[in-house]
Amino acid sequence: MSERVKYLLDEESIPKHWYNIEADLKINTPPPLDVSTGKPCEVAKLERIFAKGVVEQELSRERYIPIPEPVREIMRQWRPSPLFRARRLEKRLDTPARIYFKYEGVSPSGSHKTNSAVAQAFENKRAGIEKVATETGAGQWGSALAQACQIFGLESRIYMVKCSYEQKPYRKAIMELFGGTVIPSPSTMTKAGLAVLQKDPYCRGSLGIAISEAIEDVLKYDKTRYCLGSVLNHVLLHQTVIGQEAMKQMDMAGDYPDIVIGACGGGSNFAGIAFPFLGEKLRGGKDVDILGVEPAACPSLTAGKYAYDFGDTAGLTPAMKMYTLGSSFIPAAVHAGGLRYHGMAPQISNIMAQGLMRARTVQQLDVFKSAVEFARAEGIIPAPESAHAIAATIDEALECKKNGVSKAILFNLSGHGHVDMAAYMEYFCGNLSNYDYPKEEIAMALSCLPVCRENGNAE
Ligand SMILES: *Cc1c(COP(=O)(O)O)cnc(C)c1O
Repeated sequence: MSERVKYLLDEESIPKHWYNIEADLKINTPPPLDVSTGKPCEVAKLERIFAKGVVEQELSRERYIPIPEPVREIMRQWRPSPLFRARRLEKRLDTPARIYFKYEGVSPSGSHKTNSAVAQAFENKRAGIEKVATETGAGQWGSALAQACQIFGLESRIYMVKCSYEQKPYRKAIMELFGGTVIPSPSTMTKAGLAVLQKDPYCRGSLGIAISEAIEDVLKYDKTRYCLGSVLNHVLLHQTVIGQEAMKQMDMAGDYPDIVIGACGGGSNFAGIAFPFLGEKLRGGKDVDILGVEPAACPSLTAGKYAYDFGDTAGLTPAMKMYTLGSSFIPAAVHAGGLRYHGMAPQISNIMAQGLMRARTVQQLDVFKSAVEFARAEGIIPAPESAHAIAATIDEALECKKNGVSKAILFNLSGHGHVDMAAYMEYFCGNLSNYDYPKEEIAMALSCLPVCRENGNAE
């Protein structure tokens, strides 16, 4: 009998609710603060930046939030996504570990980002918004949002981090194909961009700078709202369709993960796969080891400080309590553009601080080595971001081999790398390098955290 490698669900199994981890946490995630008052940010202020429905989701403590039927209907195009057993990778590694991966590269944008883009575009349309502005790193989020905006007839303006704009020209083309307007960031179109360029005319940008530019854009026009591709509670919430489906698929496989692994940029795909399993554990279910993986060049969870900081460089966002490297920190131009963010989702930071997960870093060359190993075994070319999860999975599987134990490892393959082939070419030419954790720069960025006396930042 041949062994199964693919676990598929029918469309009726697309989750009807998003899962909100807040309902199961003993210590709730600290709210965003308005730095001018030191108090939790007022709803009216949040609603000037985000669509109303999105703000409701952001602040909710309900365990299950219904997915609007039109959003579910659109998700039928690529959901439920497949779950695979990586039998050929297991063989290549000669490991007793059972390796499973959930594959989000089947969405129109080629990554998990579409799960949230559609939900956000829907809420903006419902609120009567006409135009949205956003940031994008590698361009995955920008392409997902531009496409979702097409479905609902919204305009999109996308500030794309300059180094990615140069590294990934096809992503720009995809966003424009879907009707988006793409602006390399830092740009001369906003005060935030100009301020950065004045200091460093050759600045290659960061997600923090691009977010400042997008928010400034939003505050200029009525009927315009901001969309964020990661970090915030509602984005993590939208991604929980991944883990809910994976639970059913692991059940079909007659297995349960001992370890769940995801790459962490702002934390949304990691939360998406991990939170439903973590919730089960918090409600008294099976134990599970949850592992977040970040680049050595941008190690917020492993080397950052757990403190209130801005989500952007100019300080236009509310302050969020998170593991941060400082909002002025500009990470090295690694090819995993989606992981170049100075902070980490407040919910993930909260569960990290409570010891409910662990985190580690990987170096760029190990990431690409693992990506190639995986692609040669399984035939799927991973996005450099996703390959961080693969590198950690391979390490865990080899650890199993060393110790002679068979664990079930589940990782999220957050997207494909078809638009990242230039990075692979550079890897094969030997042009890529590792980046060590830039201690001094981070110390400098951390010395400028906002002061929020009421909430413990003024130690
Ligand atoms: C954006 C992106 C990431 C990182 O973002 P998270 O919010 O941490 O998930 C990871 N993988 C892919 C493919 C991405 O596009």
